[in-house]
Amino acid sequence: MTATKSPLPGVGETLGRYTVERVETLPEMSGQLVLLRHENGARHAHVAREDDNLVFGVTFPTVPKDSTGVAHILEHNVLMGSQKYPVPDPFFSMIPRSLNTFMNAMTAGDWTTYPFSTRNVQDYFNLLSVYLDATFFPLLRYESFRQDGHRFEFETPDDPTSTLKLQGVVYNEMKGAMASPGSVMWRSFGKALYPDLTYANNSGGSPENIPELTYEDLRAFHAAHYHPSNAYFYSYGNQDLGRVLDAIEEHVMTRFQKQELDVSIPDQPSFSEPRRVDVSYPGSDTERGGQVLLGWKLGYASDPDASLRWNVLSDVLLGNAGAPLTRPLIESGLGAQLADLTGYRDDFREAAFAVGLKGLPASGEESDGKADAVQELVLSTLRQIAEEGIDPALIEASLHQFEISQKEVSNAGYPYGLGVMFRLLGPWLSGGDPVTGLRLDAELGRLRDDLKRGRVFEPMIEKWLLQNPHRVTLVVRPDPALAERTEQAERELVERLSKDFTDEDRARIVRESLNLKNLQGQESDPNVLPTLTLADVPAQVPRPAYETERSGRALVGRVPQPTGGLTYLDVKVRLPELPRDLLPVLPLYTFAVTRSGAAGQDYVSLARRIEAVTGGIGASAGVGNGPDTVDDLRLSVSFSGKALARNAGELVAVLRDVIAAPEFDRERLRQLLEQRLAGMKASVVSAGNAYAERLASAQVSPGAALGEQFSGLTALATLKAIVEGAEGQADDLEGRLDALLAQFGRLTTLITQGEPLVCLTALPEDVGLDLTPVTTLFQGDAPVGHPRPQLAAQVPQARTTDSPVAFNAVAFSTVPYTHADSPALLVLSRLLRSEYLLAEIREKGGAYGGGASFDARSGVFAMSSYRDPNIARTYGVFRDARQFLDTDLGERELTEAILGASKTLDPLTSPDTVGRLRFYGDQSGFTPEVQEAYKARLLSVTLDDLRRVMDTHLTPERAAYALVAGKDPSEDTAELGLKWDVQGI
Ligand SMILES: [Zn+2]
Repeated sequence: MTATKSPLPGVGETLGRYTVERVETLPEMSGQLVLLRHENGARHAHVAREDDNLVFGVTFPTVPKDSTGVAHILEHNVLMGSQKYPVPDPFFSMIPRSLNTFMNAMTAGDWTTYPFSTRNVQDYFNLLSVYLDATFFPLLRYESFRQDGHRFEFETPDDPTSTLKLQGVVYNEMKGAMASPGSVMWRSFGKALYPDLTYANNSGGSPENIPELTYEDLRAFHAAHYHPSNAYFYSYGNQDLGRVLDAIEEHVMTRFQKQELDVSIPDQPSFSEPRRVDVSYPGSDTERGGQVLLGWKLGYASDPDASLRWNVLSDVLLGNAGAPLTRPLIESGLGAQLADLTGYRDDFREAAFAVGLKGLPASGEESDGKADAVQELVLSTLRQIAEEGIDPALIEASLHQFEISQKEVSNAGYPYGLGVMFRLLGPWLSGGDPVTGLRLDAELGRLRDDLKRGRVFEPMIEKWLLQNPHRVTLVVRPDPALAERTEQAERELVERLSKDFTDEDRARIVRESLNLKNLQGQESDPNVLPTLTLADVPAQVPRPAYETERSGRALVGRVPQPTGGLTYLDVKVRLPELPRDLLPVLPLYTFAVTRSGAAGQDYVSLARRIEAVTGGIGASAGVGNGPDTVDDLRLSVSFSGKALARNAGELVAVLRDVIAAPEFDRERLRQLLEQRLAGMKASVVSAGNAYAERLASAQVSPGAALGEQFSGLTALATLKAIVEGAEGQADDLEGRLDALLAQFGRLTTLITQGEPLVCLTALPEDVGLDLTPVTTLFQGDAPVGHPRPQLAAQVPQARTTDSPVAFNAVAFSTVPYTHADSPALLVLSRLLRSEYLLAEIREKGGAYGGGASFDARSGVFAMSSYRDPNIARTYGVFRDARQFLDTDLGERELTEAILGASKTLDPLTSPDTVGRLRFYGDQSGFTPEVQEAYKARLLSVTLDDLRRVMDTHLTPERAAYALVAGKDPSEDTAELGLKWDVQGI
């Protein structure tokens, strides 16, 4: 169905009080850009494209002058009720009333943005109304400011003699953020390189400065910044621009007058000589927790020529493992990986370039020596590159990467239309030409001309990096005593701020705490918010056309799609029976295989070849089952890659070499395993809930038991044992690597004995590509294996690590996809999440998050909490879920849960993914008919069904428990009767 749309307006035309200032074609994305200006100064950019995933965003430059976190606290408060929608959390409440494909709000260093996307037109205007009302007409209640900003509260809220504490959602959030090395690095970088500008402030808020923010400051900041004269509106997709503008005019513009506000950022005065800045974060990994980063201030980020050239140069120097700056840094062994923030950074008005290493020892003299060594190595390598000149083939390879990024249209990761917004916003907000964010043909032409005339990039290295005194060497280190010192400082701050409190002040704090509690406990009516109905759920799933053919042992699917000129190739190999010892090795194999050498090329040559002819390749291991059973498993390894159509033959050749003739060597393997270990270790405290869920599920589901070996804490333990060795054998690393190399050799042979399913997605004229170089690799006739992994013992598992908070999980194995109860379990997971767990675990329990999930294909149902101060309390909440189902639930709750569930069945696809999903779905039995039958059953789920499936499948005796926490939970949970198997990570 296509709505009638008026044609795009021309330059100078008016649409109500808007005037069209520019219209530009965007040939790479087959779209058009319309830039408009409202009488009151508001700017609007509309990108018209044949895409039914419609996007909206409104962005405000917000330039903080201090570190009170005013812009961040305002972002939270804006989402806590507005004039037309006076519910406590309109965004959270809209999630289940909508079929949105993206909803969020984000605060960056100097702007705040509120974007969403959806494929349903009614939903678009529902969300538009909620977003406009929230941003322009928020209630900004005093209680909201105290709840999410900061407040004093007594340990026992109604007892003024108990200990006084600082509280607040943002206050606690930023305390957490300042404990993470990544955020400390980011904040310190802006402050070190631009000490005189707004970037020196902590835009999220520093815990020691947040209490300085007053309620009046917050309101004044909103009135000045969230005003049409300071607003940048964005709309995108196959939709009627006039209707969007009318909605904005009616809802917002009629209620404002033009207003002046200066949000400009001046130049940062240049340093006369390089500086060094040392910072620390609370952490105990002094062995490998350090980072060293060199940063330089460059020219204006809004200069499109410079911006293009720095992006290309950054990719030339750092874009792959064989790149001339990356390789010597990694091979030096000074650190395990490139530092956070490495690369060209246009997040600042004057841009930056940064490079460094992480995974460094971080105590004492050794660490200082390493910091100097990293700095010296970076500078000497850059000097050598500038003197010897850059191989023109590397520049060509990077320009080719740039061409791919301009052509590719993908919703993988996040919606394409949102990416378009961010590309446009960069130059637009900084006073540059927004068109250059989307179209760089003129700049590319000038670069090519300059390259014909002589060196372009070497003089940039010379001028902006080697000769530029505006350079900072940032050294970031964990400090095991810092957490304690920070707590002490907080106690002193509370003491200082409260030393003159009178009895009246104390009584006021008690009174205000009770007011807040009352407000939190008030029933609100979400029905003031707009909603979709079950009739809006599409009954059908996409059926992209494709053709299949047999080629030897391979089944090939060819999918014609409007890919923008790219070709995507996926080779999924169903494996024969694997010996047990190879199972845990498989994910290490897939990690290493695309990062090593192949067919006579070492890893550097192969990395350069991949960069020159493809848009990247990858490999992964997976486990799956059919729709009728969750126990009959199939193991597979997938190799995938993309390329411009003109290089598609080269892509086939690269994948052939990587599949059939990988070459691993001990030294490169050591580097790779260290990188992977560092990455997994860092992810434990940021994704502890996922690890806990896997550990719990592995006790009840065979598929999950394999998943735990592949990517859970068991995988981490396996990797650690190889890299660091068990107690007393740390020195036999070579022996362990050799054993692993032997296992890798056996895996290569077993993979080529598997059964390949090959999927090619390309433009119709490119879809006939010759795939025999890959399909003929598979000659064996070994039957596909059916692994029967042992379940982990069903004993509550606790894993301890450096974490002040816990991640709690419980899991159940239920029924396969085609079982009649499956849709009800999916609905139940949504209902528990939005109506019960969020309130109990987040709002009342103080955890950052809590939820339930149901994987309909594997049949695993799980509940978990994220960054949770509680353990026993949360397991009590999980156990009481059944009682919650007997409370007063009605049609609204059920409809919202079904809408939410249907969203998980209709993922946002794009030309690169839609055919692949269909082909592999069909091959494993998840055909359109099976999926549509599931949706039909979903729409008729009742509340009684939810109670029945919970009584049948989610009983206490079927539950499996696991958690990740800072300490042994046994004492805490004694009353619940949970006896934990406790192990350190
Ligand atoms: Zn926040």
